[in-house]
Amino acid sequence: MHLSVVYRYLGEFHDPLAEVKYGRENNPTTMLLERVLSCIEETRYGLAFNTGMAALSALFHEAVSRGKRVLVSRLVYGSTRQLAEKLLGKGLLLAGPPWDELLALIEKVDMVLVETMANPTLRVPPLPEISRECTRSDCILVVDNTFATPVIYRPSSLGAVVVESLTKYISGHNDVLGGFIGSVDEELHRSLWEWRRLLGSILQPVDAYLAYRGLKTLEVRVKQASETAMRLAQWLEESGLVEKVYYPGLPSHPDHSTASKLFGGTYGGVLSFDTGSSERAKRVLQRLRGIMPGPSLGAVDSIASYPFTSSHRWLSDEEKKRLGITPGLVRLSVGLESFEYLRDELSLVLRES
Ligand SMILES: *Cc1c(COP(=O)(O)O)cnc(C)c1O
Repeated sequence: MHLSVVYRYLGEFHDPLAEVKYGRENNPTTMLLERVLSCIEETRYGLAFNTGMAALSALFHEAVSRGKRVLVSRLVYGSTRQLAEKLLGKGLLLAGPPWDELLALIEKVDMVLVETMANPTLRVPPLPEISRECTRSDCILVVDNTFATPVIYRPSSLGAVVVESLTKYISGHNDVLGGFIGSVDEELHRSLWEWRRLLGSILQPVDAYLAYRGLKTLEVRVKQASETAMRLAQWLEESGLVEKVYYPGLPSHPDHSTASKLFGGTYGGVLSFDTGSSERAKRVLQRLRGIMPGPSLGAVDSIASYPFTSSHRWLSDEEKKRLGITPGLVRLSVGLESFEYLRDELSLVLRES
């Protein structure tokens, strides 16, 4: 790990993207992480940012500065949608789910942003169809792959630009903030590098090191969490303790068939369930002892959250209703605790609430 922000440099200008001279431009530890992550995501180029939002900011700045129109799924990470609304203004179109609504608008835009699995209802867009439409109308497809990770899906297989919040599964221990963009287009890569330099949003070396270390266990963590989440989702659905369960691995999920085709039987570590009312959801969160209530996801410890007034609080009540973000909804990010431990905890708390 190299902590220095200043490196020997004689003032000759060759290729700034490859040179290490000043920490706001490049640093060797971050460059190592970028090389490894772009191998894993199978993208030619990779850039690491100090947060997932910083990565998305660079992309949106690139789109705005070139006067591009961007189509964003209505159901994306709350802050992503807020940033898009603030930065893109009239250049922003919001559509889908339903996914046909989004597919129909692709010909009108220059860039499309969707998430592989969109929180909190874990909707999965038909990525191959979206990619085909994007190719046909010469439009850049950007896929935020944070919930799936490259263990479950590689958007680069469709030629998409990949975004990851390293904060979640990639680092995996709730001790790093970071973001990543993987792409195959050199011109785009160079522009995003310039935005990162100008916005001052490069990933710092300690965080790059920790994210790199997280990668070593990424596959076992994601597979284990997915297996436990699948069992919990099945158990919850059959238990009669909640009104509804949202998990793409369940046949009852609206995008189950797409998810089965794309993900090869591993559906991620996040599920949501509807407790029936905001009062009951709040009681559940208050009474949890072995699962922490809080924001974020993708760590070794399970976390429960309340999307209605936290991650999606900026949406109008009408928009929340349209997207199925109900007052009784609780989201659970499953960690590495055993299935039995989590089942017993949920069973107890749901019976008491
Ligand atoms: C967390 C998250 C982000 C933002 O990442 P930060 O590292 O918190 O800035 C973006 N997209 C998705 C899907 C996320 O879960």
